[in-house]
Amino acid sequence: MRLDFPTAPAAAPLIDPFQRRVSYLRVSVTDRCDFRCVYCMAEDMTFLPKADVLSLEELDRLCSAFVGLGVRKLRLTGGEPLVRRNIMALFRALGRHLKTGALDELTVTTNGSQLAKYAGELREAGVKRINVSLDTLDPAKFTTITRWGKLDVVLDGLKAACEAGLAVKINAVALKGVNDDEFDRLIGWCGEEGHDLTLIEVMPMGEIGETRLDQYLPLSLVRNDLEKRWTLEDTDYRTGGPSRYVTIGETGRRLGFITPLTHNFCELCNRVRLTCTGTLYMCLGQDDAADLRAPLRASSDDAVLAAAIREAIARKPKGHDFIIDRRHTTPAVARHMSVTGG
Ligand code: SAM
Ligand code: SF4
Repeated sequence: MRLDFPTAPAAAPLIDPFQRRVSYLRVSVTDRCDFRCVYCMAEDMTFLPKADVLSLEELDRLCSAFVGLGVRKLRLTGGEPLVRRNIMALFRALGRHLKTGALDELTVTTNGSQLAKYAGELREAGVKRINVSLDTLDPAKFTTITRWGKLDVVLDGLKAACEAGLAVKINAVALKGVNDDEFDRLIGWCGEEGHDLTLIEVMPMGEIGETRLDQYLPLSLVRNDLEKRWTLEDTDYRTGGPSRYVTIGETGRRLGFITPLTHNFCELCNRVRLTCTGTLYMCLGQDDAADLRAPLRASSDDAVLAAAIREAIARKPKGHDFIIDRRHTTPAVARHMSVTGG
């Protein structure tokens, strides 16, 4: 891993055509996963050939170029980021930007299956908070949703994360007829365990072999229902992500809502997404993308890479056009969430 990249932000920050400052990069380090969640992947997925995937050194150089251009928050995601071989080397390498102060936060979104193994190393690399996806506390339902996952493995991982001193936020996708009877239980459990919780509306990304209309549950309805039993206090707490948070009076923990369908959050968008092949998506819900692998491999001059990044940011669109209804049953974008990372 290189240690010599200049970390001082370049004079001009990354500003998009709508005057939004891009300060958050999410990186899908692999499109592979040890689960097959029903809303994310089809059971039978074709993954990228390994030769197309950037090496860990290349990912480090690309992420560091963004840090050099003023990105303050990096989130590694996937696919399942913790199944990529030697991934801790990338966390350790990127952790140097925390030490210099060039980066405010290095974090990860994970399904939790490998946390028991890696929680301590993540904390040592400078990770302080993690997002863990957990849609249900029912073991049978957990295996139905993830197809290949085991709840007790994830719960052991969460225990290890807490012991390592990592703050945990649980992400749960709201699925009609699947976990919509469990939100009270999840809220109560998160209160006991000391985790914040975010509920996410299912997004129409990629063919999954089922229709989204069957899965889609508007969170505006969920919130109205929760308010009958819980005291939801509005807060202006933000994490740099798209969640809108309330504090739950009874537990003292935060509850976030990610509502791309019922409440579009694009006007505050500060982030872009990099795939493991070096393709930069300026919006999760649009197809326009920039290839950064070619400039990365064409030259060891980071100025070439910086120019390509600036050119891409200049094309960042205003927002996504996600719709799920009876007339819109095909995905808004063909790629799966695991390509660009959630
Ligand atoms: N494998 C890791 C995990 O599950 O946390 C990281 C990648 S996963 C693609 C990131 C997040 O995207 C997860 O919280 C997952 O529940 C969410 N997700 C996947 N497909 C989605 C979809 N179609 N709509 C909404 N959220 C989705
Ligand atoms: Fe894997 Fe995460 Fe997608 Fe589930 S949501 S299949 S754990 S990438």
